[in-house]
Amino acid sequence: MKLYEYEAKEIFGQNGIPIPQSKVITQPSELEADSFPIMLKAQVLVGGRGKAGGVKLAKTEAEAREAAERILSMEIKGIPVKKLLVYPAVDIKKEYYLGFVVDRSARSLVAIASSEGGMDIEEVAQKSPEKIAKLQIDPILGLQSYEANELGRKIGLEGKPLLQFSKIALNLYKICKKYDAELIEINPLAWSEEGFCAVDAKLNVDDNALYRQKFQPKAEEYTELERMAKDAGLSYVSLDGNIAIIGCGAGLVMASLDIIQKYGGSPANFLDVGGGANAENMRQALDIVTRQEGLKSIFINIFGGITRCDQIAEGIVEFSPKIPISVRMMGTNEEQGKQILDEHGYHAFDSMAEAAQKAVELSQA
Ligand code: GDP
Ligand code: MN
Repeated sequence: MKLYEYEAKEIFGQNGIPIPQSKVITQPSELEADSFPIMLKAQVLVGGRGKAGGVKLAKTEAEAREAAERILSMEIKGIPVKKLLVYPAVDIKKEYYLGFVVDRSARSLVAIASSEGGMDIEEVAQKSPEKIAKLQIDPILGLQSYEANELGRKIGLEGKPLLQFSKIALNLYKICKKYDAELIEINPLAWSEEGFCAVDAKLNVDDNALYRQKFQPKAEEYTELERMAKDAGLSYVSLDGNIAIIGCGAGLVMASLDIIQKYGGSPANFLDVGGGANAENMRQALDIVTRQEGLKSIFINIFGGITRCDQIAEGIVEFSPKIPISVRMMGTNEEQGKQILDEHGYHAFDSMAEAAQKAVELSQA
């Protein structure tokens, strides 16, 4: 889950990282500034706001008002801007980059620093990889202060700036751990006469940690159905075809998508009820997938392990979808499941291929 810049900055500020004194506004009339220049920045969960015209340095009140009106009425990558972050512009002498990211192949966090901040770090990595310093962090020991120093030295810092940089790196690492970040970033980390300051802030929380991180999911990050599924503890993805797919387990769901396409069908969405789903989970799953428009059929692919087929069947019967379904059912309590379906006029296949073909047929009828 992504946090807005202003949310991330608040956390940075509380944890010893210098940030500009800022205010969030939602209307140009809320703009107030004693001195100029000021920065106005669109608060949206996508990167590259600068390039898209969502970041403005205003030198006068008139300029600020004009920028506030313009940015608050624009869309960035399809997302309408509802909030602006406003702060006195930092007189930047040089822009650096500092961040931590989970490196899955290394199974650890990696610190990344660069003397070329401001730009996309991917771009720097491509054009001048020698300007990037990387450090793999021991997950048990954590980032050590001598390592933070070394990282700073590698990007050309020394003396007082190096000391301040190390402190910021150590604090950023602490925040990264405390908030279960999968990505945390200051780009640019601005150097001015007052020292270092985080003029931008990014913090993406690992979704797997949301049970212990008390953040409200962001409306703009998910579609309504995705949010409903999330709240019900189900994984759901919306696509643009006309066959809804429900399966248990990610692998089986992927296989279901493939086989539907193999027989010429087009998936409208897919939902994984997970292992051990009960009748209520199944009912909710059907409730969610059938809310999508333009649906012609539903393919339900269940291989019962810890999931019990009778529970799945009960969920189906309880919801009794108005759209035709094709069910493949095998495994734990298969006989009971099939019997429940039979009694309510549904037929379940043993073969995944047959059930998929049937679902495609139904979608073309
Ligand atoms: P992003 O484009 O979404 O990453 O937004 P940023 O917050 O990084 O802003 C884009 C650019 O605006 C930065 O790279 C800076 O060059 C510039 N910028 C941001 N804050 C300030 C500031 O306080 N003073 C000055 N002079 N420039 C700033
Ligand atoms: Mn930035």
